[in-house]
Amino acid sequence: MTPVPDRKITDILRESPFTLSAEIVPPRNGSDRQVILNQIAALKAAGAQFLAVTKGAGGSLRGGSLPIAQLIKEGFQTPCIAHFTSRDLLPEEVENQLIDHHYLGIRNILALRGDPPQGTSTWEPRAGSYPYAYQLVEQIKALNAGRYLDRAGSKTQTRETLDFSIGVACYPEHAQREEHLNHFRFKVKAGAEYAITQMLFCADAYARFNEEIARAGCSIPILPGARLLRSREQAAKMTARFGVQVPLDYLNKLAPTDADPMAPSASLDAARGLAEKFKSAGAPGLHLFVLSDTELSCAALKNANR
Ligand code: FAD
Repeated sequence: MTPVPDRKITDILRESPFTLSAEIVPPRNGSDRQVILNQIAALKAAGAQFLAVTKGAGGSLRGGSLPIAQLIKEGFQTPCIAHFTSRDLLPEEVENQLIDHHYLGIRNILALRGDPPQGTSTWEPRAGSYPYAYQLVEQIKALNAGRYLDRAGSKTQTRETLDFSIGVACYPEHAQREEHLNHFRFKVKAGAEYAITQMLFCADAYARFNEEIARAGCSIPILPGARLLRSREQAAKMTARFGVQVPLDYLNKLAPTDADPMAPSASLDAARGLAEKFKSAGAPGLHLFVLSDTELSCAALKNANR
């Protein structure tokens, strides 16, 4: 039986006025897989038009990403983005793994360098692997054109073409704006067709980034990623850890601490306001990062759907 090729996210973004989607994380190795199956079913039922599955996020390098992506596509009939990190792979391994994805009908790859290993302050990429995501984008693009490695290192042979749609990460609130823009341009030039942002709560930052990439001549659809915040306490932690700003009008809607019994409804209200602001700023959709907050995320998706 041949797996069905997935729908491309670029097509979905083109065809829908405003998409709702979610990113999930494979369970820890050895965990009960029913939990993720329930999570996928719940997100789909709540209105997620497509899902994304992380790979080794946070430097964890845990397993499960590819089979879960395949399961979402085949078992749940829901388009899926498979995250793909290059930080610990040689080009030959990248090629093999991409072929595996393609055989399974995966068509949406989020091409990432990958988080450094957990618990390390300094880190060197594996010798011979790509230190930058644009190089991974280039290799996927080459495979889309039928150019494979010849195992002696050159990419000159012509063979069957692959058919991946390529997304990348972006960081609208990056501290080194010019440098980040420059590196983002590399990824677009290499073949990135859309990007998903680091968690973002500020529609102004979203709009500013779109203006910057337009000026730099590298506009592609930018899907804002967001996490549901339960409280101002949690928002402060996100700002400290990731350098992302949470605007005052959003903060004011949140409960002061996680322990506050009003936290879930305040969070939903704030998430709905955020989706509307992103929509007004021209975003093609909202992409929710879901961790263990499945129930709240599903409520937010349903809420945003109304
Ligand atoms: P790149 O764009 O290659 O950037 C990596 C670093 O190199 C940056 O500091 C950049 O400024 C610099 N750089 C880029 N190009 C050049 C160049 N040409 N010359 C010099 N310097 C350059 N990580 C995971 O491990 N698994 C995941 O599933 C995952 N999912 C993510 C999803 C989203 C939406 C986002 C925003 C991030 C995700 N990450 C994930 C995190 C990401 O892998 C890390 O932030 C990683 O450190 C950078 O990856 P990148 O793809 O942005 O790399």
